[in-house]
Amino acid sequence: MEIKANEISSLIKEEIKEFNKASTFNKSLGTVVEVGDGIAIIYGLKDVILGELLEFKEDVFGMVMNLDEDSLSAVLLGDANKVKEGDTVKGTGRVVSVPVGDELLGRVIDSLGRAIDGGKEIVTKKRLPIERKAPSIIDRESVNAPLETGIKCIDSLIPIGKGQRELIIGDRQTGKTAIAVDTIINQKGKKVYCIYVAIGQKNSSVAGIYDKLNTYGAMEYTVIINASASELSPLLYIAPFAGMSIAENWMEEGKDVLIVFDDLSKHATSYRALSLLLKRSPGREAYPGDIFYLHSRLLERAAKLNKAHGGGSITALPIVETLAGDISAYIPTNVISITDGQIFLSNDLFNAGQRPAIDVGLSVSRVGSNAQYKVMKQVSSSLKMEIATYHELASFAQFGSDLDKNTKDIIKHGEIVTEVLKQDQYLSYSFVREAIEIFTAKNKFLDDLNKEDVRSYLDEEWQFINNFYASTLKEIEEKKEFSEELEKKVLSILSDFKKDYKIKRQ
Ligand code: ATP
Ligand code: MG
Repeated sequence: MEIKANEISSLIKEEIKEFNKASTFNKSLGTVVEVGDGIAIIYGLKDVILGELLEFKEDVFGMVMNLDEDSLSAVLLGDANKVKEGDTVKGTGRVVSVPVGDELLGRVIDSLGRAIDGGKEIVTKKRLPIERKAPSIIDRESVNAPLETGIKCIDSLIPIGKGQRELIIGDRQTGKTAIAVDTIINQKGKKVYCIYVAIGQKNSSVAGIYDKLNTYGAMEYTVIINASASELSPLLYIAPFAGMSIAENWMEEGKDVLIVFDDLSKHATSYRALSLLLKRSPGREAYPGDIFYLHSRLLERAAKLNKAHGGGSITALPIVETLAGDISAYIPTNVISITDGQIFLSNDLFNAGQRPAIDVGLSVSRVGSNAQYKVMKQVSSSLKMEIATYHELASFAQFGSDLDKNTKDIIKHGEIVTEVLKQDQYLSYSFVREAIEIFTAKNKFLDDLNKEDVRSYLDEEWQFINNFYASTLKEIEEKKEFSEELEKKVLSILSDFKKDYKIKRQ
């Protein structure tokens, strides 16, 4: 067939048209050139954005972590063994997101929002990207409502407010998780949605927590995100961010949310592994330089929104594990400086039988006292000082020197107060009961008792007040404050009971 000269140019034009089409198509296709340790290096993918979800094979996805000049690195989410060199990769044009909404309540999900509790597939109306901007200063208001933990020691001395970020820090097996779980259980009937993010824990531990929450009816308002120790580090890395997006959806609907990250030490470790595999340069303790930024941008998303934005809140309780009580290590100091205070759990106290093992001296809450109920503030005002003085004198008294009566009294009172602050797991108290118990100790009704009798005394006293003075309890619950008159009334009730108690024991 002969082609005329004037046709040649139109043929070439046609070809060029096709060529353009082919190249647009290829823009969102790439090839795996290297894969290993859950990381894939990809050549040829153009027009992708940081954090974009990539599609590898059936059920295997990836997230873009590094954008280099002519290649990019992605972490694999899913069965990494299925991906081989030479495989084709597709960009999806959207960043990694999670399903959000009330459909998640009562469920256990993985970092990508897929059900892992054996229940039916989760279908929600809405999804949110895992990385979002924190609410601006203008959209917020200061923390002004208490988040009741139901734990006497915390509600009185280290109060937490809605929208606050309070770190729970301590060695392994000192009761960190117990505090978080008890706090979740105590939200029953208080209209607070809870999210428990388990990072790098054993599946069996998470199953145990699920059982407990279920038993206490807390799963009705709770969702558990589990990125277990057996999972690849990318899934551990995104878990807290996924949790935060689920929380934000509720906060933006005007609800109060409590989110627990158990724990951020393991999160940091997984991010370190990831970063080293991505060949990012290591810094202090081999953590990448941006680990501080990572945790601060996560925790900055906890907020108390103002009325114009619905008034919702996210209270965050990150947990950090220390080694031999060393809070000056890299990750602990980072997270301490990001949060609004910390609850420090001491191994020595735990072993000495003080549970929860909260070291009152090292624990602080920087914003919560603004939100504390007035009555709690009134009864616990001198408590911290009393405990500090007691510890100082007690260590001094160890040397066996003769003590004057005044010193002995202070030590005895301190012992009683520490006894009052002990509390069993899964036993949350209403703020009224907390206030009454602390008020009893403050007014020295207990100082002539043996330490061992304090618990039973307080239990009987509570029973007594409930039986005969329920209206007074109601009054405290409603007013949340001791007027002079009310305080007098409670004092007289407490001394009535004391007389009763003494007569019974004679
Ligand atoms: P890990 O470092 O392994 O995560 P952890 O610091 O989270 O441990 P928990 O698992 O909460 O500690 O608690 C450790 C043990 O102490 C558990 O057996 C728990 O039942 C017990 N425990 C915690 N708090 C109390 C408490 N208030 N009263 C009695 N026992 C408690
Ligand atoms: Mg734990």
